[in-house]
Amino acid sequence: MKISKVDVMLTDLKSSDNPGWRPVVLRIYTDEGIYGDGEAAMAFGCGSEAAFGMIKDLAGLVIGMDPLENEVIWEKLYRESFWAQNAGPVVFSGISAIDIALWDIKGKYYKEPLFKLLGGRMREKLKCYASQLQFGWDERKIPALNDRDYAKNAMKAVDEGYRAIKIDFNTYAPDGHIYSYDETSGFQDPLHIKTVVGRLKAVREAVGPDIDIIMENHAATDVQSAVNLGRIAEEYDILFIEEPVSPDPKMNKLVADRINIPLAQGERIYTRKGFAPYFENGSVRLIQPDIGNSGGITEVKKICDMAQVYNVGVQIHVCGSPLLTAASLQLEAAIGNFAIHEHHVFNRYRSNKALCICDYQPENGYFSIPELPGLGNELSDFCFKHSIKVTVDHR
Ligand code: MG
Repeated sequence: MKISKVDVMLTDLKSSDNPGWRPVVLRIYTDEGIYGDGEAAMAFGCGSEAAFGMIKDLAGLVIGMDPLENEVIWEKLYRESFWAQNAGPVVFSGISAIDIALWDIKGKYYKEPLFKLLGGRMREKLKCYASQLQFGWDERKIPALNDRDYAKNAMKAVDEGYRAIKIDFNTYAPDGHIYSYDETSGFQDPLHIKTVVGRLKAVREAVGPDIDIIMENHAATDVQSAVNLGRIAEEYDILFIEEPVSPDPKMNKLVADRINIPLAQGERIYTRKGFAPYFENGSVRLIQPDIGNSGGITEVKKICDMAQVYNVGVQIHVCGSPLLTAASLQLEAAIGNFAIHEHHVFNRYRSNKALCICDYQPENGYFSIPELPGLGNELSDFCFKHSIKVTVDHR
């Protein structure tokens, strides 16, 4: 079997439920009629166009290769793209998208779901948390501004059966503007700290002591402010803090040594090489690699196995189309150190759900693992219609 062509797509949703959201996806075709879908995890922030361009460039390198040889292809992209060595989000989003599609093809070729090819399903269901409740828990983005909004969103998720929630208390100011780094880092204004504490307290009082709260920081705090907030958060029994500081192992260690809450890092760390120093200095208890930017299924499986050596748990970072949700569920089912699955609020938005043919959602806070061959989901006609598409069919 040989790779015959690749369709690379930059979605153009023009929807109002999540402005700026542009998943970058691809479909790899083979000369035997089997195809596989993949995705680059750069749908948000700046960089969708860059990921789209990178995949176009990388796709030419894999035309004519055997799609079942994912390790051979991964190594070729790593060596021959020049820019992959020493990692980076754009090149690794490209490699990841291609790798995910290769695993989809492999599953369809062997007529097995991915978890089987990865060694089998270690659990029937995956515990989830409701993620990013500062954006609401609805079918479109509704920023949470006052304490009541935070408590209400938390209870909405808890009433659906979730036993864990994640919130960035530091995204929106009470007047609706998005906090600048100057406002959330350094020696913070006491009024700012009061706002965060008020939200945290409102959520803990609403959900009670038996629901886990994860504090998301999106690296919006420096070491000193992360320590300040972390010490306050200790009073509210926070499960872990995600990205307390910029992804840097030395800075993360400074925070880890000064507070009594476990730390998570990973959505902006790429490859085994990127994760290794965090394991070596003991500053993470949980990693959150993204299959769509850290090296695909091939590399993230190795990162997870490496984490297990250090007794570090895994929550795959999931913030993409339903295709990345399916890929993440498959891998999380098959690793020994799975901790919890991230179910992002964007998975509730109609424009995002329409990008794939299946809309998997958790029930009572638990996800079942798709059992169709391959990833268990694929790109929809809607996705092809609402994308800028380029076809690559030669080297
Ligand atoms: Mg995060």
